[in-house]
This record gives sequence, structure tokens and C-alpha cells, in this order.
Amino acid sequence: MKCLRCGRRAAYELRYSGHWLCGRHFGELFERRVKKTIRQDRLLGKDDHVVAAVSGGKNSMAALRILFGIMHNNPRAKLEAVTVEEGGEAAEIVRAYCASIGVPHHTLKRRGGVMGAVDGYATKAGAGRVATGENLDHAIREAFADMASGNPERIGEAGRGAPEHIRILGESQDAEVGAYAKIVKLPTVAETDKKGDDAFGRAAKMLLDSLEERHPGSKYQMLRSTGAFAAILGGRRTADIN
Ligand SMILES: [Zn+2]
Repeated sequence: MKCLRCGRRAAYELRYSGHWLCGRHFGELFERRVKKTIRQDRLLGKDDHVVAAVSGGKNSMAALRILFGIMHNNPRAKLEAVTVEEGGEAAEIVRAYCASIGVPHHTLKRRGGVMGAVDGYATKAGAGRVATGENLDHAIREAFADMASGNPERIGEAGRGAPEHIRILGESQDAEVGAYAKIVKLPTVAETDKKGDDAFGRAAKMLLDSLEERHPGSKYQMLRSTGAFAAILGGRRTADIN
């Protein structure tokens, strides 16, 4: 197959449109879409101090790479990366990558949950935002689990509070992030995030993956519905208070 844009050998198929793109054009499209998510959802401000929580997995490494691309020319913005020590080579791989692009990196000791340690660091450092690598698949699986477990009011609660958690890959599918990480040759380790890796989480993943396989675009539509649902619930909560 050939790239729709330049005619060179294609590397990735956009399932929902049936179009193929070469590595360069897929990478550009992917980054453009993430930047659109950031703009539309106002995930970054001009003088932001962001702590990126980087496990060394493909998602958080891709998020770090794109954040760096956006922030490194802005003298008012500050980006640093942290890795919570969990044994293995992850922290060293992230440290080396950060050194290669010139982003300060800190390794943190685990205190309770992983995000507890990251939030604690960000608060002390005075950072208003913590960037995570959670992608579209994580978001809809979480919403699906909230619905299936009878807790629909939890939908859309993720990310609220201080420091604010920003999911810049929130509209990118897991498979797309994987392809991007390969195309731009990011050094990565196997995903260490065990959240959602229980019997229910695996069943939900299989279900959502097979739906997307048969009906490309389903995951994105579910994300849209989840956002609308959260907005409705949010609106109701506000109405209740008033
Ligand atoms: Zn191309």
C-alpha cells in the first residue's frame, strides 16, 4: 500500500477511513490531533509548569515527546518529568531520554499509589498540572467499568482536583500511540500500569477492541458520548447545588 499524501510505502492504516499513510505523514497527523485535543480542551496555558508522569511505557513516553515539542520554545513554560521507581530498567530509560532532549528528570520513591507520589512531587514543586499517558482506550474502559459497576456518577471525575491531571492522548487510540512510538523510534519499556488489568478490565478491553475491529470509529464515538454524559451529569450537579 502507498501513502495517501506522498505515494511512498505506507506504514499505517487509518481504519475508520481506509486510508494508508507513510511513517512521516502518520506521525504528523498523530501530533496534529494531539495538539488539537490540547487546544480544544484547554489542557495547557502559556506559563504552565507541567510535571509529566512517565513510566517509560509507550503512552507516557509519547505524551512527554509531544509536550516537549510544544513547550520547549516557550520561555514561560516549564516541563519536567518524573518516574516512580518500580524496579527494572524503566527509570533509567526515561532518565536517558530526558537527558537527550534536555528535560529535567527525577526518580521518585513509591508512596502508596504511583500517582500519589507524582501529585506530592508536583504540589511541592508548585506545578499546576500533571500530564499522564492515559489514552482513549483507558478513558472509555474506565467509563465502561463505572457504568457496569453501577457508578455512573464517577464518569468524567478523573482529572479533577489539584494538581490537575491532563490526558493529552485522551483522544488517541492505544494502537495509534503504539504505531507513533515505533515510527518516531521512542525508547520504551512494556507498560507497567496495571490499572484495569483484572478480569473485568480484560473482558472490557476484548469487547471494545472487537467492536472497534468490526465498526471502526466506535471507540471515538464512545468517548464523545462519555464526554456528553459527564457534561450532563456535571450540569445536573451544578443545578442541584443552585
Ligand atoms: Zn507520506
